[in-house]
Amino acid sequence: MLAIENLHAKVDDEEGREILKGLDLEIWPGEVHAIMGPNGAGKSTLGHIIAGKDGYEVTEGSVQFMEQDLLEMEPEERAAAGIFLAFQYPVEVPGVATMTFLKTAMNAQREARGEKALSTPEFMKAVKGAADKLGIQQDMLRRPINVGFSGGEKKRNEIMQMALLEPKFCVLDETDSGLDIDALRIVSEGVNALRSPERSFLVITHYQRLLDYIEPDHVHVLAGGRIVRSGGPELAKELEAKGYAEFLEAA
Ligand code: ADP
Ligand code: MG
Ligand code: MG
Repeated sequence: MLAIENLHAKVDDEEGREILKGLDLEIWPGEVHAIMGPNGAGKSTLGHIIAGKDGYEVTEGSVQFMEQDLLEMEPEERAAAGIFLAFQYPVEVPGVATMTFLKTAMNAQREARGEKALSTPEFMKAVKGAADKLGIQQDMLRRPINVGFSGGEKKRNEIMQMALLEPKFCVLDETDSGLDIDALRIVSEGVNALRSPERSFLVITHYQRLLDYIEPDHVHVLAGGRIVRSGGPELAKELEAKGYAEFLEAA
């Protein structure tokens, strides 16, 4: 599904510091990969580059997504092809109800896939189903998107967007930060319900806790702009016990 080879990238500013320094990663359909690493290692940079956010320049290497050259695609094309970055839309949008936003996003996605727009009853049914599963109250759907939402509400809302947009590849960047244990469980159950043989996930996290709920197939340590170690779920537990010190020294 995703093949990253020797990816080098820098921040697109005057200093132009290199953040990713030869990163390799291969993700097959149905797999859940976790990326862990110290603060500032480049985890979010990787997620942003996959989604096509501005502000970075790829200087070397390649990213293939379902046999297409991802780096040649516009962010909207990536979304239409099935890439979803949680926190892609973290912004508060005063005056736009969550419902309206969802309908626009879902129909844009359908149009890009050559499917016809949802009727209002079809849309309402889909949203109600997704909201109920995530414990989202109906009144929240009528409020302007993210305005005055708590951290947990914003994240549930993101997972609801993810469920409704039916992406093929989901990047979750520190979805656990700021969640209490109940919200963490609800969000994780939402993600787990979306796991399927055709859908893959890249779960970025600083802490092991989230991985108690979303069990990854593979765990990677990102330090100094590269994947320095890969393993199974036991690697996350080892990191929790030992910390990132040895990787910081090596980097
Ligand atoms: P992580 O998510 O692993 O904590 P980031 O990818 O956010 O790390 O950041 C990696 C490094 O790149 C950090 O040193 C950060 O300060 C720097 N960085 C990231 N984005 C920008 C940016 N837009 N402008 C300047 N520096 C940035
Ligand atoms: Mg960080
Ligand atoms: Mg980050």
